[in-house]
Amino acid sequence: MRLAINAIAEELRRLKATGVGRVSVSQEGLDSLRRSVAARGHPAAGEPAEAPLRPPVVVLPRGDKQARWDALRAQVLEDPVCRSKVRPGKKVVLGVGSLDAAIMFVGEAPGAEEEVQGEPFVGPAGQLLTRMIVGMGLSRGDVYIGNIMNWRPDLPAGPGGVQVGNRPPTEREMAHCLPYLRAQVEIVDPRLVVALGATAAKGLLGHKAFGALGEVRGRWHDFEGRPLMVTYHPSYILRNPTNRSKRLIWEDLLKVMERANIPVSEKQRGFFQQ
Ligand code: URA
Repeated sequence: MRLAINAIAEELRRLKATGVGRVSVSQEGLDSLRRSVAARGHPAAGEPAEAPLRPPVVVLPRGDKQARWDALRAQVLEDPVCRSKVRPGKKVVLGVGSLDAAIMFVGEAPGAEEEVQGEPFVGPAGQLLTRMIVGMGLSRGDVYIGNIMNWRPDLPAGPGGVQVGNRPPTEREMAHCLPYLRAQVEIVDPRLVVALGATAAKGLLGHKAFGALGEVRGRWHDFEGRPLMVTYHPSYILRNPTNRSKRLIWEDLLKVMERANIPVSEKQRGFFQQ
């Protein structure tokens, strides 16, 4: 049952990302999903919301970027809520990269590989993100890569106590981690921010800003006074490895390059064109 629900959730997210706003679900299926969500402590429609976690207060010290980032990292790693959310042997995850980056990528949450290594985007989606960054003529060390979340949202463990699959964070979980992401933006002070996927876009634009990702993707928005581009999450491309989906995300990245004054070659401009 648990695996089946993960698969349903994954498929619904995929459909939503492609602009599908409604699907038909039998009453029996809906009741079953509600019971499963309620059993895990996440409110189903019509049920009372969870008590909010008290978001952390981040006070950055004076000093250079590195000193401020080190202080932030120490706070995040010591945060009792973050610590309580990671399974034994796994890590709380903060962003990585250049503190002088012009471009900051923001993803959703650490996955299986990331919570082991304590670094964002090192698993399959991360390897694709790295290839995209290289395609832009940059390296991982030239940009800053962060996540909305500092821990991997939990799912009941599968066989052997291992978590199988991922789920998007709840609004309450995101509200706890967002002050840490804002602090990273403040420290790095990038020229522009790129939200990868719907969760990142919701974290940065607000949950009520849009329904389906298609409404905001590929356009410039504002995040606290700096340009914000919303594009697909690399895992969307892993699930839909078509030339069309690659071209769509690449078109968004071309806009990012232009806005960041990164030269675009004819070869780069033509990537993924039929
Ligand atoms: N997906 C994300 O959104 N972030 C990661 O760090 C890894 C996968």
